[in-house]
Amino acid sequence: MISFQYARPANVADAVQQMAADPGAKFIAGGTNLLDLMKEDVERPTRLIDISRLPLKEVTQTREGGLRIGALVPNSDLAWHPLIERRYPIVASAILAGASQQLRNMASTGGNLLQRTRCYYFYDTATPCNKRQPGSGCSAINGLNRMHAILGTSDACIATHPSDMCVAMAVLDAKVHVAGPMGERAIAFADFHRLPGDEPQRDTTLEHDEIVTAVELPARGFPANYSYLKIRDRLSYAFALVSVAAALELDGGTIKEARLGLGGVAHKPWRDTAAEAALRDQPAGEAAFAQAADTALRGAKGYAHNAFKIELARRAIVRALTQAANGTPQSQSSKKIV
Ligand SMILES: Cc1cc2nc3c(=O)[nH]c(=O)nc-3n(C[C@H](O)[C@H](O)[C@H](O)COP(=O)(O)OP(=O)(O)OC[C@H]3O[C@@H](n4cnc5c(N)ncnc54)[C@H](O)[C@@H]3O)c2cc1C
Ligand code: SF4
Repeated sequence: MISFQYARPANVADAVQQMAADPGAKFIAGGTNLLDLMKEDVERPTRLIDISRLPLKEVTQTREGGLRIGALVPNSDLAWHPLIERRYPIVASAILAGASQQLRNMASTGGNLLQRTRCYYFYDTATPCNKRQPGSGCSAINGLNRMHAILGTSDACIATHPSDMCVAMAVLDAKVHVAGPMGERAIAFADFHRLPGDEPQRDTTLEHDEIVTAVELPARGFPANYSYLKIRDRLSYAFALVSVAAALELDGGTIKEARLGLGGVAHKPWRDTAAEAALRDQPAGEAAFAQAADTALRGAKGYAHNAFKIELARRAIVRALTQAANGTPQSQSSKKIV
C-alpha cells in the first residue's frame, strides 16, 4: 500500500501555495491519466491536491473577440459548447476524435494539456525509461517504436504527446494562462510543450508550483475551411498514429492564410510555420498541399518500426488540406451522445 495525502484547496491561490510547499505533490483534476499512472506505480505523489471543485469551469468571451476556456471545463462540455461548435469546430472535432464519451466527461481542459505520453516503456516500470527515471536509458529507441515520434526526437527520448485537442489549439495560436506564487503569466501554446532534448522528464515549461487556469483562443477560428484528420489503428478509443489539423482562409481558389499541425509524430503538438508560409498565396490544390507536406516532413526520421509514419503523414497532410479547402472536414458525428 502506498500512502499519500489528499487535500482540497479553497481557491487557486491556496492550490498554488500547497503545491509550492510540497515538491512531491500533484494536482488532480479528472484523474483519467494520473490515477492510471499511480496504479501502474509510474507516478507516486506524496499529496494529491484536488482542484476539481475550483471555479475554473467557465467558457467566456474575451474583449479581443476570442474565448477563455477555464482549465476545469470538461472535454465533452467544450466539444459541444455552442461557441466552440460554431466558431472553432476544429477544436470540437479534435476533442471528439479522442478517448471515449465517458473519459471526455471526466477529462479536463488543463489535464488534457498535461496528460503524459503513452509510450509503453514509460508505463512499464521493469524497463529503462529516461522520462520516468532520468539517466536510465530509452527502451524505445532500439525496441518497439511503432507509435513513436518521427520529428523533434533526441537520443534520450522518442515519445509522442498523445493529445488530439492540443494539436487543434496549437494551430489556432492559443495561449495557456497559468498562476504561480509569483502571480499570473500567459504562455504561447507553441512554447508550452517541450521537445525532449536531454531532459525528457520535463513535458512542458510549466513550473512545479504553477497551475493552468485557462486556455485562451484568439478570435480567428477558421470555421469554414478546416479539418482534423486522425489516423489510428481502430476507429475509436485509440491514440493517433498520425493526426493533422489543417485550417485555411481562402480568397476564391487562393490560400490567404494557412495553419498546419501534426499529432502523434513528436513530443509536442507539431506546428510547422514554414509549411504554412509555403501555402500562402498559392492556388489551393494538390501541388501546393504536396509541397507543404514535404516541407513539414523535411526533418522526419523513422526508427525500426515507425518509418511508415513519414509517408502516412505526407498523405494525411494532403488529404486534410484537401478536406479543409473543400469545406468537407473529417468531422465526428454531430449527434450528441449522453
Ligand atoms: C483509455 C484512454 C484513452 C484515451 N484516448 C485519448 C485520445 O485518443 N486522445 C486524447 O487526446 N486523449 C486521450 N486520452 C487521455 C485523456 O484525454 C486524458 O487522460 C485527459 O485529458 C486528462 O485530463 P484529466 O482532467 O483527467 O487529468 P488528470 O488525470 O487529473 O491529470 C493529468 C495531469 O495533469 C495535471 N493537471 C491537471 N489539471 C491541471 C491544471 N489545471 N494545472 C496543472 N496541472 C494539471 C495533473 O497533475 C496530472 O499530472 C485517453 C485516456 C484514456 C484513459
Ligand atoms: S521514448 Fe521516452 S518515454 Fe519512451 S522509453 Fe524512451 S525515454 Fe521513456
